[in-house]
Amino acid sequence: MPYAVTLIAGDGTGPEITEATRRVLEATGVRFAWEVQQAGAEMLEKYGTVLPDDVIESIKYTKVALKGPITTPTGRGSRSANVTLRKKLDLYANLRPAKTYPGLRSRYEKIDLVIVRENTEDLYSGIEFQRGTAEFEEIIEAIAHTTGNCLDPNAAISIKYISVMATRRIVRFAFEYARANNRRKVTAVHKANIMRLSDGLFLATAHEVAKEYPDIQYEDRIVDNMCMQLVQKPDCYDVLVLPNLYGDIISDLSAGLIGGLGVAPGANIGNQYAVFEPVHGSAPKYAGLNKVNPMAMMFSGVMMLRYLREKQAADHLEKAIAQVIAEGKYVTYDLKPRPDDPTAVGTSQVADAVIEKLQKM
Ligand code: NAD
Repeated sequence: MPYAVTLIAGDGTGPEITEATRRVLEATGVRFAWEVQQAGAEMLEKYGTVLPDDVIESIKYTKVALKGPITTPTGRGSRSANVTLRKKLDLYANLRPAKTYPGLRSRYEKIDLVIVRENTEDLYSGIEFQRGTAEFEEIIEAIAHTTGNCLDPNAAISIKYISVMATRRIVRFAFEYARANNRRKVTAVHKANIMRLSDGLFLATAHEVAKEYPDIQYEDRIVDNMCMQLVQKPDCYDVLVLPNLYGDIISDLSAGLIGGLGVAPGANIGNQYAVFEPVHGSAPKYAGLNKVNPMAMMFSGVMMLRYLREKQAADHLEKAIAQVIAEGKYVTYDLKPRPDDPTAVGTSQVADAVIEKLQKM
């Protein structure tokens, strides 16, 4: 039986990297019944939303999706399709491995980090108040009443919301992942010295959950210190668990440690559904140019194969991509010594090269 998988190409460079990824996934020999769905900028013009209900319904049916990046229109009052998707399907864990492969242009050689980012709350809850609105007035009045702080009305407010329930499940997810993947340590990342209540709750809850996993080392780090340590000695770290915003920032930092966004994959996982997508966005300035690196999405495809328990196909695809990286010939501009290297190939040629490697396995 082929796997029913929802395929969302996204927008910007999304369609090109999605097509390249679909081709390499099919070349592994695993059979897929793709449910093609559309989301992104074009849908906004047609249907007034970047995320039509059909997309959600399709994922509820297939339970698994492979997704290209979707542009978030700025200043038009529309919420990010990515954030909405994660919330509607309760995809609470954002899993973002950062791993070096020989041939990648990185300052480090053996990085193997896993970022586990809480995906549903924190400053990404979408609870915001705009100056000049009745809601804003109400909020600053309540703040003045309850805390004695008189805020400047010429301002904006975003709520940082962190719950015990969401923290517990993300920290458990990190420990379960560590256990299942023979990882030695989980580090909880926070800023509890300043945000003593919200990050303090995250930290206290992480400490509590850690006690359930005596077989895995546990420690915590303050987020600013964590940034410095990751740059200085990334090999000291293994699995990191973080609230939403820090997780987003640290995953881009980690992508920078391994050779860039072109090779950084990700997955959004909940108890019922999973959506696999690269860490990077739609890189709109390169749309339609057959230029950007499809490997971040291909590695997300490897994660999807593992999720579907297609271990051999996952290993083969990972190995094939690694071989193309190691040879350094059929790679896009971002993996060349200089971005204007005339020998850089396009998105679809990378897929051809990976397929050729797969055919020899
Ligand atoms: P971006 O990740 O799209 O691009 C930043 C830069 O990184 C690019 O200009 C390019 O130089 C490089 N880059 C990104 N992907 C690459 C690839 N595959 N190969 C080679 N180089 C690559 O970030 P941005 O410009 O901040 O965001 C563009 C849009 O994407 C925004 O609307 C943003 O909201 C959205 N976004 C979507 C997602 C998602 O769909 N999950 C994630 C992040 C950003």
